[in-house]
Amino acid sequence: MPAAITLAQRVAQIAPSPTLAINAKAKQLKAAGVDVLNFSVGEPDFPTPPHICAAGKEAIDKGHTRYTAANGIVELREAVCARYRSRLDLNYDPEQIQISCGGKQGLYNIFQALINPGDEVLIPAPYWVSYPPMVELAGGVPVIVPLREENNFDLHVDDLLQRAGSKTKVLVLNSPSNPTGSILSEGALKAVAKLARERGWLIVSDDIYEDIVYTKGTIPHILRVDPGLQEQTILSNGVSKSYSMTGWRIGWCAGPLAVLKAMNKIQSQSVSNPVAVSQYAALTALTGPQDFPQTMLEAFLPRRDFFIQALTGIKGVTCVEPMGAFYVFPNFSAYYGRSFQGKTIDSSVALADYFLDEAQVATVPGAAFGADDFIRFSFATSLDIIKAGMGRIEQALAALK
Ligand SMILES: *Cc1c(COP(=O)(O)O)cnc(C)c1O
Repeated sequence: MPAAITLAQRVAQIAPSPTLAINAKAKQLKAAGVDVLNFSVGEPDFPTPPHICAAGKEAIDKGHTRYTAANGIVELREAVCARYRSRLDLNYDPEQIQISCGGKQGLYNIFQALINPGDEVLIPAPYWVSYPPMVELAGGVPVIVPLREENNFDLHVDDLLQRAGSKTKVLVLNSPSNPTGSILSEGALKAVAKLARERGWLIVSDDIYEDIVYTKGTIPHILRVDPGLQEQTILSNGVSKSYSMTGWRIGWCAGPLAVLKAMNKIQSQSVSNPVAVSQYAALTALTGPQDFPQTMLEAFLPRRDFFIQALTGIKGVTCVEPMGAFYVFPNFSAYYGRSFQGKTIDSSVALADYFLDEAQVATVPGAAFGADDFIRFSFATSLDIIKAGMGRIEQALAALK
């Protein structure tokens, strides 16, 4: 018998990504022949556009199959700079850009580069599942700031102030948000900008859903509201959502040179560089025709509208209308305390389990996002499946005593 293996303490602190775990369970049930309707998916249900795939194939044929610079090929970093010039009217030097293995790794690099043990990071909740564990893996302390459903999940500066302190170093923004689909208002961002200036906070702005927006015109952004914050803001983004390229694993960050240099050290000692072939495909995504996000939006919009109508038609359920991304985040807490066959449904995890076991509908419990009253449904799936799924949800809820 070998001696028991002792694992690092940092591993015990965190759990595997719950969204990936639920998706895996749904796929497993499906493979076993169960007719599961899957609303747990966190990626667009479109293939990568053909011209981008062609660029990936061409990259292989041209021999772009070796290591690149740790921070990514300069052409792609320049394309990212051009994007920020046109979208935010801000100048970045290509040295201020890091290409990473997905937006997720870029965010991981940010926290590794910035956080010392005990540093606090303000994270508004409902939050994307990975922010708190990433902060913890860096030795930091996630400090959760509740966003209120009655306020359309906008950020309230008093809620922020109540939790901020002398150890606060970073504030994370994610607009449009996963899971709520809410967009932070200009007023909220102005208040945030004022505070960040007064207290010297760094801002991490995760803009991964910036192209998936159901409102007209440009959306408020911290650096549109206050471009002077460029030197204390790190932007995180990527091609996964805008161009349906989740499997290619390309993201990027932009920010102050010193932070980016620190992030490059970490990247060079961990993954070396993002996949060369994928970087060339991403270059075509950023520099080629830009009509793809609109194609997705046209498919997403009727699905979103159906979801909202069906959900708000159920007694006791409330649902804030998502203004971006491809999720609805309804509140089912009116059903907590009811039971099925003697088993009490008392939490989002219990309700999501019930939906999966009794209705064969896979969803993500709000607890995974720090908001236990809610359940996340992705509408990156067909309208037919959404209609069938909502029928099953209504029946399942009606069966609760
Ligand atoms: C999908 C997602 C990301 C990053 O995805 P990658 O595939 O790693 O680029 C980052 N933030 C949020 C909120 C997301 O939903």
